[in-house]
Amino acid sequence: MLKAQKVRLYPNKAQQQIISSQIGGARYVYNRALALRKFAYQRFGIKIGKYALINHITKLKKREKTSWLKEIDSQAIQQSIANMDKAYQHFFKGGGFPKFKSKHHSRQSYQYPQRVKIEGNKVFLPKVGWVKCKGLRKEFVGKIKTVTVSYEAYQYHASILIDVENNAIKPCSNPSKAIGLDVGVSLVVTDSDGNKVKPLDLARELKKLRLRAQQLSRKKKGSKNREKAKAKLSKINLKIANKRKDFLHKLSLQYAENQGTVVVEDLKIKNMTRSAKGTKEKPGKSVKAKAGLNRSITQQSWGLFFELLEYKLCERRGQLIKVDPKFTSQACSVCGHVSKNNRKSQSKFLCESCGYTENADVNGAKNILVRGIHGNNASLKIAV
Ligand SMILES: [Zn+2]
Repeated sequence: MLKAQKVRLYPNKAQQQIISSQIGGARYVYNRALALRKFAYQRFGIKIGKYALINHITKLKKREKTSWLKEIDSQAIQQSIANMDKAYQHFFKGGGFPKFKSKHHSRQSYQYPQRVKIEGNKVFLPKVGWVKCKGLRKEFVGKIKTVTVSYEAYQYHASILIDVENNAIKPCSNPSKAIGLDVGVSLVVTDSDGNKVKPLDLARELKKLRLRAQQLSRKKKGSKNREKAKAKLSKINLKIANKRKDFLHKLSLQYAENQGTVVVEDLKIKNMTRSAKGTKEKPGKSVKAKAGLNRSITQQSWGLFFELLEYKLCERRGQLIKVDPKFTSQACSVCGHVSKNNRKSQSKFLCESCGYTENADVNGAKNILVRGIHGNNASLKIAV
């Protein structure tokens, strides 16, 4: 089943220019294809097929005068020809003869047959990049079909056609099962079943990021080279952000497909100060400045992770429960005894009351699970 939704786009100045050339290119192709077909029919009584027209436009790209067509998304060009072809078919079924498209029409548009992506409140349009938008409805999940980008009355819109059925949701394999997740700095997840999820490895990208930032700092202000270096830096930043998002998508899907209930800590209450201290492996320099940034990225990432997780769980009739994070790292998940001394090191937990020992993060995840099921103050025995 196809569902359509229209969203408002907010392209920046550079993107507006690209959209405008895509619109112009699509219109040119439409008109050129129509003229050619009309001419061939009137002069020689033959009908030029869709693919011959596409080939013709491809040849035009190689000519100097029309080499600007290379800047136009090739699938948008094909789509433009397909639309002209459709209008022609309509004519043969008794409709009006296809009209040439005017530059002066109040509504201008072009179409992508595929390759458009949606992420959060952004839409990815080939050749244009990620464009901010408003009005996306999250419940429309599925394969994106055609997307029409339009410009009218100084506003940009995208009409997105989504094949809802195409994305059959794989149901949860274990709806009665519950799990607790302990999330940490640098995208580490530990669950109450004792699994540690291998964190995302961004070492190569981060190295490149540092290099690019260094290169930028050496360029003269206002120079062309500085602009180039800036573009390279933002490209690697985008790559990192996308890798992170992709990782969180997969991770949330994995839990949503295998657990009916997932319990996590409420990040609004949790203060991720652990990151400020740095880790054993990296006690490093400028911990303070780095920690601030690190913390905000971590918070943001986990915020997104919980959002994705909740959404994917709800799709499968599961649930996400958020609990108070107080003492989750100091309490014993077996007897409830709370003490700083239970925490022997960053990784080792040993209850001084009952002797229970466990990896500290796993113990934390177990506490989170217990709280989700029995309520926030479940069996805490705070040592005096
Ligand atoms: Zn204990």
